[in-house]
Amino acid sequence: MLGQMMDMPLLISSLIVHADRYHGDTEIVSRRAEGDIHRYTYHDAHQRARRLANALHGLGVQRGERVATLAWNGYRHMELYYAVSGGGAIMHTLNPRLPADQMSYIINHAEDRVLFFDLSFLPLVEVIASLCPAIKCWVLMSDRAHLPATTKIPGLLSYEDLIDSHSDDYDWPALDEKMASSLCYTSGTTGNPKGVLYSHRSTLLHTFAGCLPDGLNCAASDVILPVVPMFHVNAWGLPYMACMVGAKLVFPGPGLDGKSLHDLFETEKVTMSAGVPTVWLGLLAYVETNKLKFSSMRRTVIGGSACPPAMINIFQRKYNVHVVHAWGMTEMSPLGTVASFKPKHADWTEEQREALQGRQGRPLYGVDMKIVDDEGKTLPWDGKAFGNLLVKGHATLASYFKNDGGDPLQDGWFPTGDVANIDADGFMRMTDRSKDVIKSGGEWIGSIDLENIAMAHPAVAMAACIAAFHPKWDERPLLVVAKKPGAELTREQMLAFYEGKTAKWWIPDDVVFVDAIPLGATGKMLKTRLREQFKDHKLPTA
Ligand code: ADP
Repeated sequence: MLGQMMDMPLLISSLIVHADRYHGDTEIVSRRAEGDIHRYTYHDAHQRARRLANALHGLGVQRGERVATLAWNGYRHMELYYAVSGGGAIMHTLNPRLPADQMSYIINHAEDRVLFFDLSFLPLVEVIASLCPAIKCWVLMSDRAHLPATTKIPGLLSYEDLIDSHSDDYDWPALDEKMASSLCYTSGTTGNPKGVLYSHRSTLLHTFAGCLPDGLNCAASDVILPVVPMFHVNAWGLPYMACMVGAKLVFPGPGLDGKSLHDLFETEKVTMSAGVPTVWLGLLAYVETNKLKFSSMRRTVIGGSACPPAMINIFQRKYNVHVVHAWGMTEMSPLGTVASFKPKHADWTEEQREALQGRQGRPLYGVDMKIVDDEGKTLPWDGKAFGNLLVKGHATLASYFKNDGGDPLQDGWFPTGDVANIDADGFMRMTDRSKDVIKSGGEWIGSIDLENIAMAHPAVAMAACIAAFHPKWDERPLLVVAKKPGAELTREQMLAFYEGKTAKWWIPDDVVFVDAIPLGATGKMLKTRLREQFKDHKLPTA
């Protein structure tokens, strides 16, 4: 017997319709690539998204075709999120930090038909235009006054001209909720990048779960500033979650330095933000140097790579900003786990609670996980046994776009490539990515733990721990440190700092100092580059 409830498909367009109807006067504020601050409301955003949907139709974009963006976080990007997916096409966000050859590979592989880009990316688009012949139309996300006199981009249009010539008389189509809605490529540190194709249904289910109090905890009373880019797994879903709850949105545009961010946090009374740890390092350094505070910010989501306990400590104790440590991946839309408390943690000491928050957390509803050994045998949840982490869920990938790489699943589970343990309460702790694990005499050493310890030293700005060749043990940990400006720190002082904080045989064999740790396209430490740089490093213990 079937249930007798209304059959309403879970569609991305329903989010902007809801936000307009019930939160129509709530603001969306953006720092624009043009340099100024733009503000309007959900009502305006919905109206312009409908005009844009008509414009896309006018450009001949068909259902299922890909529309690409090269853009910062901003209101026009948000309009594209809704107009492209809502109208039945597929929103493909490109990471502008990728090298031109990888970018053109991705555009051609995705068969993007139209490409929208921010003013800042004009030089990049001038390079890739000739490499991407299948793109029928290029659109600058600005007005006619900003259109450059370039001959390198055929038929360049301005966004404002494009939507000005269309009406907002548009009814969002009643699509099948399983239709593809957006596309995001993994960063491809090994091999070619692969596409992850989300559906309306997976996006909506991810949005519901993400808004929950033990998820990212979004509410209409929030002012949300996603620092995480809209090209990094859809800004972790925040542009959808904000519409679902009707929160005010603040978009930082290209201004990701400490001052620009802090100014926006204060002037717009931001209550919640989200980003990778390296972004917060810059912001915290600015706030500390200038002796500032966060007067409205209540919490920040930190994920994408491990949040060092030292960062949790300073945010919470010095600035009164609660840290929501989250783990996930492009293949999971991306939220997997969040480190939020259970009742039993209420009377724990601050130190114990912070240590728990240093774990990657427990799954949101809609995510299931397990750890297995190399033979695939399930390991116990005792907080000690660690192995390969596998996941499944409503918003987890089943196969890559165009089936690249064949069937990625193992018995219906997606292998994350991460190594982790899980405790009896279901809190996962990631020890490493499997490709970063250090194997010393056949035993694994977790680089994340060693980095977290180094990050607690007051002279350390950033630290990465990599495997270095050792004739007896095969690999031993080598710590690569970037010091804070003007700070003094010797190799011996750094090594002494490890005493009593980890097992003796885990202590790195050597420390090297660099000016800066190289970062990848999503702001994560590029350990592949460091391993290459130090491949001939001779350990003093060798
Ligand atoms: P890419 O590595 O290609 O940029 P993702 O952004 O999807 O792709 O990265 C997912 C990976 O990031 C995870 O598999 C995990 O290794 C790492 N990661 C994400 N969140 C955390 C976290 N909180 N702690 C440690 N590692 C994390």
